[in-house]
Formats: sequence, structure tokens, C-alpha cells
Amino acid sequence: MWKIVDFKKWKKECFKKIPWNFKKEPDISIHENISGNYFYHIAINDIPLCGEKNTMRRELRLASWGIKSSHIGERYCKKCEELWIKGGII
Ligand SMILES: [Zn+2]
Repeated sequence: MWKIVDFKKWKKECFKKIPWNFKKEPDISIHENISGNYFYHIAINDIPLCGEKNTMRRELRLASWGIKSSHIGERYCKKCEELWIKGGII
């Protein structure tokens, strides 16, 4: 499981790698598939990195990405995670 230890530092590092063209700091959030299946994505300005379209914004902190509770069975999008780590956007 991928765990974020120091979210602020991690975010800063990612920002350096990503060729941002935003005028202000982008809005980063966690999205879940519209069907409510606990499948989560990382979204920038409400667009999931992997390109998934049928998602909705959830009030979850990015710092909780990758953490699984035993009863819900959350899944975290590998593609979003890879792209986020690489600092790329499709
Ligand atoms: Zn995704």
C-alpha cells in the first residue's frame, strides 16, 4: 500500500515536476466513480488524472489516499496514482 508520510512535502515535489500552466494553485481533490463503488481517483480542477469521466467529487483528504478500511473495500485508481507520482497529466 502506498502511504503518504509528509503530504505537504510530497505535494511540493509534485508541483515542481508538473509543468503547471495554471494561474493559481490547482484544486486537487479526490473523486469517486458516480456509481458509488468506492473507487477513487485523483482529480485536478475536478478532472481525474486518468481521464475517467463518470466521477463525482468526494470530501476526502488526499492525505488519506491509499488507506483502506476493512469494511468498505475502497479501491484507489492505479493510473491516477502513477500519473500523480510521475507528475504527468494526460
Ligand atoms: Zn483514475
